[in-house]
Amino acid sequence: MYSRQKLYEGKAKIIYATDEPGVLLAYFKDDATAFNAQKRGEIVDKGRINCEISTHLFRLLEAKGIATHWIDSPGERQMRVRAVEITPLEVVVRNMAAGSLCRQTGLALGTPLKPPLVEFYFKNDALGDPLLTRDRLLIMGLATEEQLSQLIRLAKEINVILSGFFQQCGITLVDFKVEFGLDAQQHLLLADEISPDTCRLWNQSEADINRRILDKDRFRQDLGNVEQAYQQVLARILTHISQP
Ligand code: ADP
Ligand code: MG
Repeated sequence: MYSRQKLYEGKAKIIYATDEPGVLLAYFKDDATAFNAQKRGEIVDKGRINCEISTHLFRLLEAKGIATHWIDSPGERQMRVRAVEITPLEVVVRNMAAGSLCRQTGLALGTPLKPPLVEFYFKNDALGDPLLTRDRLLIMGLATEEQLSQLIRLAKEINVILSGFFQQCGITLVDFKVEFGLDAQQHLLLADEISPDTCRLWNQSEADINRRILDKDRFRQDLGNVEQAYQQVLARILTHISQP
């Protein structure tokens, strides 16, 4: 696969072209970044674990009727996906206040958000991925009103499925980020990855506010045991997922 044409190298994955039209190969790396890449490091085995976690979650979502870019995962760290034109929006769903929401609003960490909050950030590293308003997003032409409603509806559906599944795993899905894109037929597909890099996950059997963290916040906040947390998420998913 290394001889394939590299189309893009991002912070967490490399995207390769394949012989099949409309199909790309995503290769998951161990590189970790936080705070718009101001903090950099590596999480041992993260690429393998995140690829596996994403695979199980995309499969779960597909089984529940969500259209995703996932085709199959032919080897360690590798995922075959349908090529899409990524909508440059980070769609964030929050079930509880954490991270930038707490910093920007003063809401206490863990404040329940009912109904869940759906937010849009402009996927633009140079601008620091700013929070968008609905009107800004429309003015910028990042989506039409109709697409925006569709994105909100999809994000909420994905949240119900993922929250319910993680609940079975004894994990609280605090918040998560997803990306969408349009394929050649203009179908909107859930793309990118769903992993402890892109979700906040709290272990329900730990009361301690640091010990309960099973996601990239361990890396962001230098809490240690980052690899172990990612492994724990995968282990619980494997115990609770129904194999096809
Ligand atoms: P970034 O540093 O931009 O977050 P990543 O390393 O996470 O990059 O991933 C590589 C890039 O691949 C991202 O920009 C992501 O939007 C893009 N991508 C994800 N899925 C697809 C897809 N199915 N088709 C095209 N691009 C994709
Ligand atoms: Mg990314």
